[in-house]
Amino acid sequence: MGALIPVREDLGLFEGYHSPQVDVDVRLNTNESPYPPPAGWLDALHDAIAALPFHRYPDRRFTALRAGLAELEGVRPEQVFVANGSNEVLQTLLLAYGGPARTAAVFEPTYALHSHIATVTGTKVAVGERNHDFTLDMDDVARVMKDAEPAVTFLCSPNNPTGRIEPPEVVRAVLEQAPGLVVVDEAYGQFSRWSALELVDETTPLVVVRTFSKTWSMAAARLGYCVAPSSVVAALEQVVLPYHVDAMKQAAGTLALRFKSEMQARIAGINEERGRIAAAFADLPVDTWPSDANFVLFRPVHRDGNNVWQALLERSVLVRNCASWPRLSGCLRVTIGTPAENDRFLAALREVLQ
Ligand SMILES: *Cc1c(COP(=O)(O)O)cnc(C)c1O
Repeated sequence: MGALIPVREDLGLFEGYHSPQVDVDVRLNTNESPYPPPAGWLDALHDAIAALPFHRYPDRRFTALRAGLAELEGVRPEQVFVANGSNEVLQTLLLAYGGPARTAAVFEPTYALHSHIATVTGTKVAVGERNHDFTLDMDDVARVMKDAEPAVTFLCSPNNPTGRIEPPEVVRAVLEQAPGLVVVDEAYGQFSRWSALELVDETTPLVVVRTFSKTWSMAAARLGYCVAPSSVVAALEQVVLPYHVDAMKQAAGTLALRFKSEMQARIAGINEERGRIAAAFADLPVDTWPSDANFVLFRPVHRDGNNVWQALLERSVLVRNCASWPRLSGCLRVTIGTPAENDRFLAALREVLQ
């Protein structure tokens, strides 16, 4: 009998990506939608599931969902790849284009999963630094491209956890310099003023990744997709496991697209609330940064971020504690909730900072 052996040495002993799930009244720590999907969607899904041939494997090419997404984004179905959350899209991209002897570039601070998934797939990670205001430092972009020659370059727009978008001229400049694929993670793309989707075509090495987890109120469904040149989509299909998108999920996604206007109404409401929180921050002793997403990063001035996080928690308000993350010293990130949740958050924060 073999002994229990240690895990792959190249994984290192990193900590997983977890946000504590504690029981609180106001949960504003994981950037989900505060609203459930429309009741009409749930009814339609119920009927669709009742009619599914469960003894058969699902449509391997998720034809209906893919056609719906292609129509939504104004591209051809061959330019759409779907997976179990956008994180699986990212993993599949790295399985196809990363791996041993290749490098992925990230610009910190950014979404921790980009470097984490790279490492898990055996891909080396090259780290670039941002400016102090969290915009991309184009000199450092040039340095990373030249030194690391990344096969995959990750951007995140709006960037989690800073909230900033990468403007069109920046994405174009990165595309010009990158020797490999540029992957723009747009998990919050629908909250934002601009999308890199307009730059996707058959010859540009650009992949835009989106998810149903945030704007579509479907985090529990685990459904994400990317829009890319069809040759990239074909490569992803070759490396992903067979039948990876189950039939219930395909139905859930396809039916959700019927409720696009409801989704857009939720976004408009959340963006309005984001404006209200930003305005309230202007009158509080916090530093903050402009956000195009459903969350805002802030840093209490002259106060320990961990203490403020704890004091909010004692008032049953949970935000994301980034205070001890590299480059984000003292920062907290609040997800935009319902108006009532945002009121509770702002009242608690005013009390704590007084
Ligand atoms: C929330 C988030 C995702 C979503 O991942 P899913 O697997 O689709 O739930 C992806 N990228 C970023 C930057 C995120 O913040």
